[in-house]
Amino acid sequence: MTSRVALVTGGTGGIGTAICARLAGMGHRVATNYRNRTKAEEWQRAMQARGIEVTLVPGDVGDTASAEAMVRAVESEVGPVEILINNAGITRDTTFHRMTPAQWHDVINTNLNACFNVTRPVIEGMRERKWGRIVQISSINGLKGQYGQANYAAAKAGMHGFTISLARENAKLGITVNTVSPGYVATDMVMAVPEEVRAKIVADIPTGRLGKPEEIAYAVAFLVSEEAAWITGSNLDINGGHHMGW
Ligand code: NDP
Repeated sequence: MTSRVALVTGGTGGIGTAICARLAGMGHRVATNYRNRTKAEEWQRAMQARGIEVTLVPGDVGDTASAEAMVRAVESEVGPVEILINNAGITRDTTFHRMTPAQWHDVINTNLNACFNVTRPVIEGMRERKWGRIVQISSINGLKGQYGQANYAAAKAGMHGFTISLARENAKLGITVNTVSPGYVATDMVMAVPEEVRAKIVADIPTGRLGKPEEIAYAVAFLVSEEAAWITGSNLDINGGHHMGW
């Protein structure tokens, strides 16, 4: 297997941790960003205790200059980014008639503008080297919508348009661009949902449980593999059957 340099944004979160662990376990050299150094270093020590090395670089994906500096830091500390996982994300849930401009802009910025901010400084190098793997972590709710998530669903749906356009532009250069759309996964993001709402969500999932972060990481690892070279512009739904079809 070729060892690649992988940048996973939001790698210290629930799904991000599993993606970092999986890619490092495959022999890739993995980096992620942090905003709070102390918290991130604690996370890094916990990963090291599991035998997993992940390089930390500062970076806010919602800020164009900070995201570019983050990519340059990965390049100088680990090497040119060959695998990019746009995973960092936030929710600010509320019904649209109550939504503030800040709730709208923060969610669009962190989930969707971040795809521009992080991918833009990475793409030219991938094109020159004629190899790359880019995966956006979208969401089931970008496909089917969700009560109280007009901002999040808009951002996550936007990631699909971004993905299929980028896939077309770069297909001849050995670069694949795909999305993974998780259903409800047991991370802090979902555990922050009130318990009674969560119970209703689980009751709606045909497999009868929340997803595990490792189940999302497994799909990401598949899409970034050398063998997945002919999969581009695709979306992989991983949701326990919560949303089927188109
Ligand atoms: P977590 O809240 O556990 O982790 C989110 C990560 O993103 C954290 O590392 C956080 O860092 C980072 N982050 C947030 N904002 C920024 C920013 N501006 N700049 C840099 N990093 C940032 O979320 P999950 O692991 O659950 O979610 C990961 C992705 O999966 C998200 O895109 C989410 O929308 C998507 N998803 C999650 C689902 C779920 O059920 N959990 C379902 C469908 C999609 P910090 O610690 O600094 O805040």
